[in-house]
Amino acid sequence: MAQLSSQPATRSRAAAPPRNPPFLPTPIEAVILAIFPLILIFGTIYSVVSPTTRSAPYDPVAQSHHQDPSVVPSYFARKSNIFNVLFVKRGWGWTSLAYFAFLFTHPSIAASSADFTPRKVRGLIRWALATTWWFLITQWCFGPAIIDRGFRWTGGRCELAKMEVAMGDTSIGEQLTAVACKAAGGKWKGGHDISGHVFLLVLATGFLIQEVGWAMARWTGRRSEERAVIMADGALKGASVESDANIGAGGSEASLGLGGKFAAGIVALSLWMLLMTAIYFHTWFEKLTGLLSALVGLYLLYVVPRPANLPDLVKTTFAKALSEGELNYYPTRVALLRANSIPFQLRFSPALANKPKGPPPDPNRKPFDPFANPSPALKITDLSSSHYLVLNKFAVVPEHFILATTEYKPQTHVLEPADLDATRACIEAYGSAGRDGGLFAFFNCGDHSGASQPHRHIQLLPVARMRDGLEGPDGEAWGVLAERLADGTVAPFKTFTERITLDMSPDELWNVYLRLYRQACHAVAPSQDEARAEGEVIISYNMAMTSTTLTVCPRLSEGQEITNDAGVVVGKLSLNGTVLAGTALVKSESEWDALRENDAKLAGLLEGIGIPNRS
Ligand code: AMP
Repeated sequence: MAQLSSQPATRSRAAAPPRNPPFLPTPIEAVILAIFPLILIFGTIYSVVSPTTRSAPYDPVAQSHHQDPSVVPSYFARKSNIFNVLFVKRGWGWTSLAYFAFLFTHPSIAASSADFTPRKVRGLIRWALATTWWFLITQWCFGPAIIDRGFRWTGGRCELAKMEVAMGDTSIGEQLTAVACKAAGGKWKGGHDISGHVFLLVLATGFLIQEVGWAMARWTGRRSEERAVIMADGALKGASVESDANIGAGGSEASLGLGGKFAAGIVALSLWMLLMTAIYFHTWFEKLTGLLSALVGLYLLYVVPRPANLPDLVKTTFAKALSEGELNYYPTRVALLRANSIPFQLRFSPALANKPKGPPPDPNRKPFDPFANPSPALKITDLSSSHYLVLNKFAVVPEHFILATTEYKPQTHVLEPADLDATRACIEAYGSAGRDGGLFAFFNCGDHSGASQPHRHIQLLPVARMRDGLEGPDGEAWGVLAERLADGTVAPFKTFTERITLDMSPDELWNVYLRLYRQACHAVAPSQDEARAEGEVIISYNMAMTSTTLTVCPRLSEGQEITNDAGVVVGKLSLNGTVLAGTALVKSESEWDALRENDAKLAGLLEGIGIPNRS
């Protein structure tokens, strides 16, 4: 007899395991950001160790070595060197030009340079914010720029040239900016002079790496970078970094383009000039404050606005949509049954019987496609140019969400590497499965699979939310069936399972899927030729993916009639891919009662949905 827990499902546990705090850079960013202080430290040490540089006379007022060609230690120690004059002095202009070239020409951002896609608009806004930071620090901040104000606050002033002193002109000392002081013939002396060069070069490099880095990484074939939209720790780059256009997008956008190459060139030159600045100009402390001023800007621009991570984003979008009445959530009662000794959740949602039914299909009109233009209240985020995430409008499990293709693709075609890779990325963002973590992904394909929508979509359920309402020993006993299959558990119906890892490439994952799909096809129709690797599928099946397993289950029927102990048919148990999690859902009290009367009934019904495992 089933153990019953009839309280409505509640959110009893925290959904996600601890992750990278949202207010800290992600690990990959931290490694990239570390390059800046390392260059500065290396340059400063070099300047002390190198005999030529150490022995060259230094002018602390000019923040440089004496510029006389006979004593200056290197071409790059001259302020008049061509790279300084033409590049660094106009550094933000070059950075902006490179970014615009990328933004307006790279194929992943817009089909044509004239299209103002949301990505392009977001990119322009970030550029404007970065430019504002550069402007406030170096040009104007409601009066003198922050660098000039800092100099004055630390006791610096414009020192009079001897001539003016002799003539009794003291006004020059009150010049408020370095530029005005030098133009008036004074010397900007005595204060802390934040290194404008270090500031500019770090800000420019950091900005371009954030904006264009994913394309550079993809171009150089670095896989971990190309899929950086959802970081391994679950952090979502979403609003801040537009690598989201590339996850799972296959190889079609692997080109860097002219704009990307231009930006890569600017990054390389900026890093070189940062090293030259580190060796030949300013004190270490002024270089440090230059670095910190740039890092604060990058932090405000890229880390602060970042959504915490995918689980948090799903949770908050779900809570908001629910409170605004944009989605229907159907609370359930839950009982734990045993189907051939496998712990199986049976859920009953009384409210589901009242689920709004759409108008009957009109053969003269194209059926409504819920994934063509998802409601903004339900949309979670774009994941790539090929996939996006949306909440399930009719949720039985809280935070049930869906990975759909942006462009229409048929649900009944063989899945593509990008579909599997996008699913993998979502699973990775939820961490490995365990009591409170993990994501269960399932896919319904074909008439007997429980599928209803023809637009390609893979569904995603946080495992912690699937456990809601299952307290105590029941909660301990239940686990995702697909994971148990890999450990040797035998389901009442035939399944094909392989172990996977989340660092598999899109093609490796797809090969596992294809192998399992072909085994399923062979099991259903042994005499048929090997199933094709693309186009329309030849069987109905469910697929399930977790952080460790991929399972394909051939389906021969969507459901089975439920009879009570008196042999009277009381309803029908319809099952989709959630069966591979070890869950089933009924919509009426009589079905709920009939199934709980005898656990063997459920096992019998499950056998009938696919190829019975006893045969
Ligand atoms: P399937 O029935 O397997 O094809 O999955 C389709 C899923 O889409 C179901 O879980 C539905 O609840 C869900 N769904 C239906 N209409 C919408 C909609 N307008 N927005 C979001 N999800 C929807």
